[in-house]
Amino acid sequence: METVEKLTGILRNHGMKITPQRLMIFKVMENNTSHPSAEEVFKRVKRVYPTVSFTTIYKTLETLRDLGEVKELIIDEDRKHYDPNINTHHHVICSNCKKIHDIFEDFSLHVKLPDSLKKDYTVSGFQISFHGTCKECA
Ligand SMILES: [Zn+2]
Ligand SMILES: [Zn+2]
Repeated sequence: METVEKLTGILRNHGMKITPQRLMIFKVMENNTSHPSAEEVFKRVKRVYPTVSFTTIYKTLETLRDLGEVKELIIDEDRKHYDPNINTHHHVICSNCKKIHDIFEDFSLHVKLPDSLKKDYTVSGFQISFHGTCKECA
């Protein structure tokens, strides 16, 4: 993700109004390594701006995703998580506390889409998710 300052400019150019609530969403996301869900971002922004709606949070995160400023992680079935680190990396998830850690290892796996799907998809990348129990939960 770009710095909050640059991001504000980019979004203005896309016709988005930069409200104090949206600015706070950017600040929550900047350098955030906890992979928050939209609900978690909502809770943090709501503390400062109690009238903010969940829709505002969700839509803003979706716009950031569409612009390639954050990555959407679908790890849990019921909620999406957002990652401002858009460089290729992988994750390890604790099945108990749901903490998500980054892995910056370059796994030279020869992961390929099955031939039967190749005609239907152009692959732009892949992510590996490890699942297990973290030290605190063990
Ligand atoms: Zn844990
Ligand atoms: Zn990550």
